[in-house]
Amino acid sequence: MSKDRIWLSSPHMGGDEMDFVLDAYRSNWVAPLGPNVNELEKDLALYTGVRSAAALSSGTAAIHLALIILGVKPEDEILVSSFTFSGSVNPIMYQRAIPIMVDSEPDTWNISPQYLEEAILDRIRIKGKAPKVLVMVHLYGMPAKVDEIKSICAKYGIRIIEDAAEALGSNYKGSKLGSFGDISVFSFNGNKIITTSGGGALLSNNEEWVEKARFLSTQARDSGVHYQHSEVGYNYRMSNILAGIGRGQLKVLDQWVQKRRTINRFYRDLLEEKNGIEFLLEPTADYFSNFWLTTITVDEVKTGFNREHLRTALLEDNIESRPLWKPMHLQPVFEDYPYYGDRLSENLFEHGLCLPSGSNMEEEQLERIKDRIISIFR
Ligand SMILES: *Cc1c(COP(=O)(O)O)cnc(C)c1O
Repeated sequence: MSKDRIWLSSPHMGGDEMDFVLDAYRSNWVAPLGPNVNELEKDLALYTGVRSAAALSSGTAAIHLALIILGVKPEDEILVSSFTFSGSVNPIMYQRAIPIMVDSEPDTWNISPQYLEEAILDRIRIKGKAPKVLVMVHLYGMPAKVDEIKSICAKYGIRIIEDAAEALGSNYKGSKLGSFGDISVFSFNGNKIITTSGGGALLSNNEEWVEKARFLSTQARDSGVHYQHSEVGYNYRMSNILAGIGRGQLKVLDQWVQKRRTINRFYRDLLEEKNGIEFLLEPTADYFSNFWLTTITVDEVKTGFNREHLRTALLEDNIESRPLWKPMHLQPVFEDYPYYGDRLSENLFEHGLCLPSGSNMEEEQLERIKDRIISIFR
């Protein structure tokens, strides 16, 4: 294969990252604390309109600390979308809690309010009490049905951890995602819309909780000159070097969102008229997606080819695409836990594809994708 690889979503530096990294290096703040960490936390709070943020080593670590801070204990039941990445669910297992997986609804592909309430009522019937927390995911940058979900959780006294790992820069009714949970979480992994190579953040309007996250993420050291511990701690804080990358990335976030939305438009112009191709789209003007990834489903009966055919045809031209997430209730590690829904996500998994969506794609790369896709339809 002589042509350059076109990646699904690769890191895209803005240019100022290196200045912040060099500042850290020159001032010898090469540690999991320092000015870049503090400034990144302020920038994130400002950007999302949330009072306070803690910069951490990953999105998964942020969800883990959020569960601890909300008091999740072994055997507690935790609601979560089945249609998500495993990073949403693994931290539930770290707490020895029980994931209750709920399937998606067709408009946003996120958790179905109907099945969410059915799951809650069934858990109350079986266990005599409602699950403790919902991990509310916004997949591929698309906002979930936030109002419906929040009102159901309020009705049953269920706290919300907002997993906005894929949704930094998206809005719901004009407010940034990451501002709707009791605690919210972002990821800065290498393939996310902005990156620190690896990293994450926990946000909340409850400043005590955010302070608690900082405490737990640095080995839970009580005050005092000697090292004293009255709680189990974690090593989950973000490095000051990586926070420098994050500060540079936040400056270009809105541009990268615009670029990904332009790429989404490009695919829609190319494919929307084609019989058998469906896009995940914003259901109403209340929803604004960062279109982290552009996602489609392929109806083989109408197109004459299936998802795998499309994926491998792109790969022959060194173009990376990827099936949609495999639902958690189908994963060997989670398949024995309760599941509620009509298996919509299984259908998405079988027929869905994520198309290359990186904000750093060049015009000629888009042309290459276009030519390839047109040839597949011929
Ligand atoms: C990436 C991701 C996570 C985990 O974030 P990491 O920083 O990779 O640990 C959690 N949930 C979702 C939906 C994600 O896409």
